[in-house]
Amino acid sequence: MQQEVLEEVQRLRAELDQYNYEYYVLDEPTVTDFDFDQKLKRLQVLEEQYPELADPNSPTQRVGSVITKTFNTVQHQKRMYSLENSYNKQDLLEWERRLLKVLGHQPQYVAELKYDGASISLHYREGKLVQAVTRGDGFQGDDITQNVRTIGEIPLILRGDYPANFFIRGEIYLTRKNFDKINASRAEEGLDPFMNPRNTASGTLKLQDSGEVRRRNLSAYLYQVIGDQLPADTHYEMLQKARTWGCKIPPEVKRCADMAEVLQFIHHWEAHRHELGYDIDGIVIKVDALQDQAELGYTAKSPRWAMAYKYKAEKVTTVLESVSYQVGRTGAVTPVANLRPVLLAGTVVKRASLHNEDIMRKLDLHTGDTVWVEKGGEIIPKITAVAAEHRSEDAVQVTFITHCPECGTALQKIEDQAVHFCPNELHCPPQVMGKIIHFSSRKAMDIESIGQETVALLYQNNLVRTIADLYSLTVEALLPLPRMARKSAENIIQGIATSKNQPFEKVLFGLGIRHVGETVAKKLAKHFGSLEALEAASLQDLAAVTDIGEKIAESVYRYLQNPENKVELERLRVAGLQLVTTQNQEPVSDKLAGKSFLFTGKLSLFTREDAEKLVEAHGGKNIAAVSKNLDYLVVGEKAGSKLKKAQDIGTVTILDEQQFLDLLES
Ligand code: AMP
Ligand code: ZN
Repeated sequence: MQQEVLEEVQRLRAELDQYNYEYYVLDEPTVTDFDFDQKLKRLQVLEEQYPELADPNSPTQRVGSVITKTFNTVQHQKRMYSLENSYNKQDLLEWERRLLKVLGHQPQYVAELKYDGASISLHYREGKLVQAVTRGDGFQGDDITQNVRTIGEIPLILRGDYPANFFIRGEIYLTRKNFDKINASRAEEGLDPFMNPRNTASGTLKLQDSGEVRRRNLSAYLYQVIGDQLPADTHYEMLQKARTWGCKIPPEVKRCADMAEVLQFIHHWEAHRHELGYDIDGIVIKVDALQDQAELGYTAKSPRWAMAYKYKAEKVTTVLESVSYQVGRTGAVTPVANLRPVLLAGTVVKRASLHNEDIMRKLDLHTGDTVWVEKGGEIIPKITAVAAEHRSEDAVQVTFITHCPECGTALQKIEDQAVHFCPNELHCPPQVMGKIIHFSSRKAMDIESIGQETVALLYQNNLVRTIADLYSLTVEALLPLPRMARKSAENIIQGIATSKNQPFEKVLFGLGIRHVGETVAKKLAKHFGSLEALEAASLQDLAAVTDIGEKIAESVYRYLQNPENKVELERLRVAGLQLVTTQNQEPVSDKLAGKSFLFTGKLSLFTREDAEKLVEAHGGKNIAAVSKNLDYLVVGEKAGSKLKKAQDIGTVTILDEQQFLDLLES
């Protein structure tokens, strides 16, 4: 490998690290996403070509392509303690008295926010991230380094003047915005929403697929440097130093001369915590001088030099006016409490989720009850208790409905699951409308001209009852609808017509088969190649596909066997939808298996694109540049530097176009 390649790789890594730092830590990006992606792609190509340059802390590792099957258990070199909790001013003053007794002087404090996420211990050696470990039981945790590498706010390489060997601890969390995004996309796939950002963050850290971790967009704040020889005498200065190494240190850290200042900080954030884009559950107060910390030491569970101040979960009472039931696209029925509007944590609350029958029964709800409503880590407030002393004598207990509020079908409940659902998939209005909305959505058929309102309008006017009905619509049929101008009608019809070009995998995802999300749809489309083949598959055939579990297989099988669905699919076929996988990537042969190819010069027998497709179809691989990993260089007219380089290497077989074709014939 030439020096120039090594230099380019190093330069790209340094640039990408710098951009990442500017974007995630300084919050001041200096390049466009496009430029960033271009450089990242270039680096990926080079690393693929020169595997000897691989580096676990290269910016390419942030993309997330690693599968961790089991997470190794790692001993913490220094135990990860809990924090003692305090709830009021008295608790804090009591703590201060104990501090004075040990220290003999008034300590200085640092007050910080208490982030509600999952704690993490990061190990840096020679400025490189070497390991990231969960807290676990405090003595040992799980090695989740690969997943943590995908988090933009965690530096992989430090800058400036850092200690040669140290640990830094912090919190991995999810912003509310990203939490909502995850749930929105889960809803689109018919999956249950996650309950709160904290559990989602810690669950995400333990996913096997680091690519999925990357997509969830976790955030991080680091708040404690740990090591034997640290370059500062106080916790506060330590944090300022760590910031210069590229660590994401929270901006809200405040030095406090005494407890009065700490209390000010507490009260300030109690009032303003809802303006933060993420959840905190309190404040952490730390004794600033490291010397003082050493003198104070630890109890069996927590440092004596730190204290958590927990905010009370905000709760209020209000009146339960009624309970209504929502039916989702998948038929799941969710009870919702309608409340007399009340102010809670800065917003007016009118509804609270009741989740399911078990939770309703435990609360023993009666209509007109005075209920306690709380906003904890959850986004949607919940009822935590009933103030039964306010209950009137004639109040009636709220019992879960037995029939679907939308279509009257008797509800069913799956054994061992708390959820009720309406089995009338094909005719229950919210399920039918939900299916059409899902079918038209961006990730499926991408019919931009149809949104939720249009679907409701079409449904209520008996124009569309199933997804196949969309393809029988005409401009004339739409015109009589309220507020439907000719232009909008034409748009709708045009959008539906265009959707016929969507590839088979999108159609399959759009059908809204339970448990068939985007990824599963892709896998099925690729494996079976057509709807016809999929329909012919037995339950065993389905379950035999990699990553398709029994539950998915059964769901797909049942869907395809249903006579009404069969009619529906036949109508889609007649309408001209793509029901065959276009790029059938099943190889034609494996003649070229294990061989790598590169095309150069002006080709005359085929285009470069077609040639590369041919290579893949026969099991070979295309690579981007000449190296000793290259097996064949196929040269057209006026081949230049690549040919020269290949000749220099000496191990590359050089072919003309006809010889390449002969290779496939042989
Ligand atoms: P607890 O789990 O209630 O014992 O609280 C201790 C946890 O608070 C630690 O394990 C950290 O995960 C978390 N924490 C959040 N913010 C901070 C902070 N600024 N300093 C120290 N710990 C924090
Ligand atoms: Zn129903």
